[in-house]
Formats: sequence, C-alpha cells, structure tokens
Amino acid sequence: ETITVQELANRMAERAGDVVKSLMKMGMMATINQTIDADTAELVVQEFGHRVRRVAESDVELGMRGEADDTADLLPRSPVVTVMGHVDHGKTSLLDAIRNADVAAGEAGGITQHIGAYQIQIPSGDKITFIDTPGHEAFTEMRARGANVTDIVILVVAADDGIMAQTVEAIRHAKAANVPVIVACNKIDKPDADPARVRQELLQHDIVVEEMGGDVQVVDVSAKTKQGIDTLLEAIMLQAEVLELKANPNRSAEGVVIEAKVERGRGSVATVLVQRGTVKVGDVFVAGAEWGRVRALVDDRGAQVDSAGPTVPVEVLGLQGTPTAGDEFVVVENEGRAREIADYRQRVIREKQATAGARGTVEQMLSAIQAGSASELPLVIKTDVHGSYEAIKATVEKLETTVVKPRILHGAVGAISESDISLAKASNGLIIGFNVRANPQAREMARREGLEIRYYSIIYDLIDDIKALLTGMLAPEI
Ligand code: GDP
Repeated sequence: ETITVQELANRMAERAGDVVKSLMKMGMMATINQTIDADTAELVVQEFGHRVRRVAESDVELGMRGEADDTADLLPRSPVVTVMGHVDHGKTSLLDAIRNADVAAGEAGGITQHIGAYQIQIPSGDKITFIDTPGHEAFTEMRARGANVTDIVILVVAADDGIMAQTVEAIRHAKAANVPVIVACNKIDKPDADPARVRQELLQHDIVVEEMGGDVQVVDVSAKTKQGIDTLLEAIMLQAEVLELKANPNRSAEGVVIEAKVERGRGSVATVLVQRGTVKVGDVFVAGAEWGRVRALVDDRGAQVDSAGPTVPVEVLGLQGTPTAGDEFVVVENEGRAREIADYRQRVIREKQATAGARGTVEQMLSAIQAGSASELPLVIKTDVHGSYEAIKATVEKLETTVVKPRILHGAVGAISESDISLAKASNGLIIGFNVRANPQAREMARREGLEIRYYSIIYDLIDDIKALLTGMLAPEI
C-alpha cells in the first residue's frame, strides 16, 4: 500500500510542500509525486497531529467482489452480447429485429422498456441478453472502467459497404477484450450486397470465417426483411456453448451498472446486469460511489419483479444518488457498510477532482518549488497598453531572488485568450491581466484547468503580490 506525497497532503488538507519538509525531517527526500509506504505516511499524519485512519482500500477501491465460487455451485447462464460496427451498417436495426424475434413476447408481453439491455428467449427456450447501446464507445467505456460484461460481440458489416473505419476499430476492441466475434453480414436484401467481398475483407483484418477454415461464424442477415436473424441467434448459442458460461445464482448479487439516470417521480434509476448471485427487493447495495436499498426491480417488459439473477437486466430503484455506467454493483451486509464504502469512494473522487483542479495553480507551484522540483515562477502577462507591459516587465525582472526567479513566458498587449491559458498550463504558470480581462472562452478554460488568473489595475499591487509569492516560496529551513 502506497500513497503519493500530494495525495497524502490533500487528504490531510495540508500543503504538499509541508509534507515534503516533514519527510525531510525524517531523513527522507521525496518530491510531491513520489509514493511513500503506509507506515511512513502514518508517521507523517501523526507528525501533523491528525488522526490516523487506514481504510481497507484494497477492497473498496479495487472492487469488493467476493471470492470465486466453488465450481459445484456454478450453473449455466445466458450469454451477454454487444453489437458493434460502423455507423449506418444497421446496429440499431439489428437490435430492433432481434427484440422482435423474442418468443416470450406472447405470454409475458413484449420488450417495451428501453433500459439499456434486454433479454430475449429464442425458440429453443434459451435466453440471450443484449446490451441495448450499440457501438464501441459504450463497450470501451465499460471496459475502461473494468467492467467486462460482454461475452460475445456481434460485428455488423453492411454487405453493400464492406469493412469501414469503425468496423476495424470494433475488431480491435473485441480482440483487446478477448471477446469472440460473430459477424452479421447485414443488408443482404440489397441488390448491391456483396457478402463474398465482406469475407475477403475480414481476412485482411485477421478475422477468418469458418467457411474459409477459420473459427469465426458469419451469418448473412437483413435487419429489414428479418432474413437470417434466427440463424444469427443460433450462432450466438453455439458460441455460448463453446464458452461454457456459468454463474452461481445462489449468493449475494454482484454485477455492473449498464445505464443510470434520474427520472421524475422515480428518483435515481440504474439498469443493472447481475453477473453472479441474485438481487432481491430490500437488498442493500453499493453502485460505484452511490449506495441504496432496493425499493423495486423492474424488468425490460416494465414488470415489477422480486429478484433478478445472472444476466437478467433490471432497473433498480432506491438509489441515494446516480452512479455511472460501468460502475460495479455489489450487494453488501448492511447500510452502515454501504454508507462507509460510498463515502470513501466519494471522498476519493473529490480528492481526484481537487488534485486535477488544483494542477497548475500557484499553490501547486509553491509546493513544487518547496519540494525542489521548480525554481521559477512562470508568468503570462497581458496588458492594456505597451507602456505598462514594459514597466511591469522591468520591475518583475528586478525581483529576481537567488532561489526563485519570476519568468515571463509571454507578455503582450490584449485580452487574455485561450492560447495564453494553454501556455500557462504547460508550465504551471500564473496568468496576469493588467487593465485587461480574459475572454469568456479563456475564463472557462482556466476554470476547467484549475489555472489562476489575477487581475490588476495598479502596478504596485501587481508587484507586491508577485513579491509576496516569490518570498512565500522561499522555504527558510531548506
Ligand atoms: P447503425 O448506425 O449501425 O445503428 O445503423 P441503423 O440501424 O440506424 O441503420 C442505418 C440505415 O440502414 C437505416 O436507414 C436502416 O433502415 C438501414 N438498414 C439497416 N439494416 C438494413 C437492412 O438489413 N437492409 C436494408 N435495406 N437497410 C437496412
């Protein structure tokens, strides 16, 4: 377990430079970005007179999923499928066609709700879950957040268009995730459809279809005429069999948030895909940095259900806040535990935002200088007239001390612009406006980047401030 000096300082609400100093007293030279171990951090915390509270971060931060299940407890589960492919190749149309192919529609009512995922039953009685957000952005985003929900990728390629840029991207993403691909060669009804060409082109991207001796299934379909849809669904089940998908439904639920939103009259609603265990009404859970108690579960047909097992997408009502798609969903023992985890995660998020927001501010610069990793105060100075710039420049240059030097990165006449902000950002500098303002875009950018703009109309005030900054930077004992 380690923590960076900066992070430790943030958590104690102390200046990073002071933490560096305290470490030095302990005989340790560290910069603000360096990591220190938990024991050292504890000493520093005590040194500052703060209470030490080590949180079991490993389980909270990295996820709280329980141990792997005994193989004896594993039961077969349905596959979870994501549809990817180039824009306009028919991803949405295909998902619609598949939704309509649901044989359970008659008895239980069709899939009416768009909750981010749906599960259909095919004639064989098997069920397949589809993630209802086509495209690789959703897939990649989920994966980036550590949520691997997809078992199989359906790669949609329009037979009249062939492999395009996003097809290639989708192939890359599926490969990176180690998820098997089934190719849906779509728009086969079109007169200019050329399915043979699609197969040839796939070859160039290391997708060798079965007909050519490879192991990738390809199915010619038309989302429009519904031709081949049943065959595609069978292909999915065939692939699922190879994967031997299993889960233990008899344990507390763990899964992933597929979608989350706030709805009038319903509060925060999250669509959850349970991956193992079974979620029940009344369960207390954590979803990312939010927690809640399940007030109701609503399935993809709009029906209230008491529970949902592996691969059954359900809307969960009863959240205290709105989680993010890709967040881990875990049922926990009690509210106290749920609150503790959610609080901890919210604190981590706030700290991350604070660090990101503070990057480049003068305060950070001071820390860097105190830590010995910087010896200049970079400045971007914009003024109303040339004469005042010359006067400021001459005085600022005279302010040079032996340790910390002001350094004018850029000085000019005119309003503070976005290019001034990006210049200051690259060097963690301070932006000064003398009798000029920042334009709205620049203001917004500075706010976003956590950069400081200071405005002056009197040269002496400006110089006094810079002087104070420079002397404040001088760490007396080091
Ligand atoms: P997406 O961007 O990949 O989601 O593509 P869409 O599902 O929105 O489809 C793009 C266009 O192709 C729409 O105008 C569809 O009606 C049309 N389309 C989709 N599938 C087929 C098909 O199988 N045959 C024909 N002729 N048109 C299709």
